[in-house]
Amino acid sequence: MKYLFGNWKMNQTISLIDEFSKNFKKQKLPKDVKFAIAVPFPYVQYLQKKLRKNCEIGVQNVCFAEKGAYTGEISVNMLNDLGVNFCLVGHSERRQIFKETNEQINKKIQLLLSANITPVLCVGETLKELKANKTEEVLKNQLNQCLLNLQGDTNKIVIAYEPVWAIGTGKTATAKDVQKNIKFIKKHLIKIMGNTGKCIKVLYGGSVKPENAFELLNNETVDGALVGGASLSAETFVNIGKQLSGVN
Ligand code: PEP
Repeated sequence: MKYLFGNWKMNQTISLIDEFSKNFKKQKLPKDVKFAIAVPFPYVQYLQKKLRKNCEIGVQNVCFAEKGAYTGEISVNMLNDLGVNFCLVGHSERRQIFKETNEQINKKIQLLLSANITPVLCVGETLKELKANKTEEVLKNQLNQCLLNLQGDTNKIVIAYEPVWAIGTGKTATAKDVQKNIKFIKKHLIKIMGNTGKCIKVLYGGSVKPENAFELLNNETVDGALVGGASLSAETFVNIGKQLSGVN
């Protein structure tokens, strides 16, 4: 089974969602691909009603604290009440714009696991780190710190390898580098998590579109994709899913 996660970021409106849902339902979905979209909080329940049968609905963030005086934040219990299936954590936009730290990300993952919600942890190097040949060091540090001392069902964690310089830029890593870095992540997960590490799915994200999906994703190393811009259109999103189909 391959995984295709969309990330709508701070996009869409009710009328665009209606159009998306209408078009999504018209498509024939491959059976061996699991579709999921991380949507803005206000649209969770609306989309659950519209798409629940064929597409999991998740969110893009959660607070690192359980409850209390955190104005504007959303707690893991609130996500649970909504029946949210998964939550992105550590997306580079949150790390860069909102200064989220690995320590906070670690707390978020622990809270999500306790609530039985799948954490989708994003890791990846910046352009500066790539140029300084630091990709593996960065990935290792992010994994070590974000996955530190976790309790519970850790095998449900999903990792998205997203080179920061490839997100929303139209640039992608080469298929060879994607596989090399995902192999490194998988090896490191086994090192820090033992046998549990073997169960963890590792996706690629960064300017995936129908034109490059087959080359980047259709192999046994990459377990799927996290897609931003190309997930806003149902046709494009499902088209990427079709190219993931047929492996594993
Ligand atoms: C993302 O937001 O995680 C992402 C990969 O975006 P894009 O596909 O637009 O590069």
